[in-house]
Amino acid sequence: MNGLMMDFPLTLDVILRRAETIFPTREIVTRLPDRSIHRYSYADLARRARRLAVALEGAGIRPGMRVATMCWNHSQHLEAYFGIPLAGAVLHTLNPRLGADDLAYIIENAGDSMLLVDESLLPVYEKIRDRVRFDQGVVVASAAKTANGMRTYDDLLASADPGAYVARRIDENDAAAMCYSSGTTGRPKGVVYSHRAMVLHSMGEAMVDSLALCEGDVLLPVVPMFHVNAWGLPHAAALVGATLVLPGPFLDPESLLDLYEKERVTISAGVPTVWLAILAALEKEPARWHLVPGMRMVVGGAACPPSLLPGFDKHGLRVIHAWGMTETTPLGSVGNVRKELRDLPEPMAYAVREKQGMPAAMVEVRARGETGLIAWDGKAMGELEIRGPWIARAYYNTPDGADRFTEDGWFKTGDIVSIDPNGYITITDRSKDLVKSGGEWISTVALEGALMGHPAVAEAAVIAVPHPKWQERPLAVVVLKPGASASEAELIGFLAPKFAEWQLPDAVEFIDAIPRTATGKFLKTALRERFRDYSFPAKA
Ligand code: ADP
Repeated sequence: MNGLMMDFPLTLDVILRRAETIFPTREIVTRLPDRSIHRYSYADLARRARRLAVALEGAGIRPGMRVATMCWNHSQHLEAYFGIPLAGAVLHTLNPRLGADDLAYIIENAGDSMLLVDESLLPVYEKIRDRVRFDQGVVVASAAKTANGMRTYDDLLASADPGAYVARRIDENDAAAMCYSSGTTGRPKGVVYSHRAMVLHSMGEAMVDSLALCEGDVLLPVVPMFHVNAWGLPHAAALVGATLVLPGPFLDPESLLDLYEKERVTISAGVPTVWLAILAALEKEPARWHLVPGMRMVVGGAACPPSLLPGFDKHGLRVIHAWGMTETTPLGSVGNVRKELRDLPEPMAYAVREKQGMPAAMVEVRARGETGLIAWDGKAMGELEIRGPWIARAYYNTPDGADRFTEDGWFKTGDIVSIDPNGYITITDRSKDLVKSGGEWISTVALEGALMGHPAVAEAAVIAVPHPKWQERPLAVVVLKPGASASEAELIGFLAPKFAEWQLPDAVEFIDAIPRTATGKFLKTALRERFRDYSFPAKA
């Protein structure tokens, strides 16, 4: 039609061009493996990402090919985030914490042509070396000039003529990146992110009612760049021009708190286990670190333990609770407090922020119970279904994944939720983690959250254990804080006022550490396996 706006593809190079034009000197700060700090700017990033695109073409990478990375959060990985899609290829981030079988399967299923691997992660590569093939070679991301005689990233870059870059025409619906879901049920499944999805997702994250990311922010993603593109935060940071701080392999609380303080970080993001450890470090030495007042901590990937909210408030730090999945790029919902609820007294305001929040703009949700879609009354429970411009419509090369999508194109999340009249989602459980006791559902998420509010409890997971009479009953598995003590009776007594009696765990087991998934969440499958034959002590 006459006068219609010109088609302008939403691609990652638009983000990069903006960062280098409007914020050329904004810093990207990386902690290197020797703990020294490397600094450069968005202009440097753009220059090197383009040079990488040329080098990849020289190395035989063609549009549509998958280039795998197995790297921590650092600037070379960030160059790959942009350089690989600029070459028309697909960035495929691999999680080095996965087992060799899963890694070999994922690489084969994706058909990766090349691997960029951190020097410190070469031992992980060694374990799969004989089982995988990268036709276009293996390149080592390394701060040093040589790496065991293998081709280094800097060698690869040096092979490219810096002036040879010609912007290729990229369709916004072309694949830019991919990542595999953890495979806690069945084989890992590949999710492919288009340029358009990632650009819109970056804008969705930056919105004020979302994470309110802006050019004045200093963002440190703790969430690894190998997990759902560090929740898309590096792209969102480049879009708005925020300073990026990348922690390299050092994810312990002290190293992170040191970086927060030195680099004046204003927003950071990670899974609850990270925040539990950081809060414990702050409580142990409250005067040691001076963080930017009001710093935002984005908590996602698993339910935010309610105690984190007042816990961080006490230190003048603000928790933002968000929900998402590999299949949702990952931002699905954010737990901000809407206008109507802002005057609530404190405990009720916390109850709002504990929820997983309202769907991000452009994202639509509904939930399905046994008899159809549930009412948004905050009580009825059903499986969350979701759709939107950055929500997966299918899995990559996985024919048996089709049953996770409805016929009318919604993704079935596997999360059991209620939705309240304001559109706030509350995740009760993952469907496979629910305890089904005598026909009633018990939320393990709620029990865990409450337990982690007990002063002696460092971590808690609640699992279903087979039960002769009730089919399943909840067992609490607890790690106590160093030097703290609490008995089973005391912990169950602590929960009692908050739950109906039949919802309370039948027993508490104390262990030294809760096993973690490759993304740092509690690995409940391992706990269920460990306590499969558990018999509850006979009740008096
Ligand atoms: P995996 O956990 O299998 O590695 P994902 O990273 O895709 O894979 O995790 C998505 C799942 O994590 C969701 O389906 C949900 O169960 C859980 N999750 C993510 N964020 C939250 C949250 N804020 N509260 C509760 N559960 C969450």
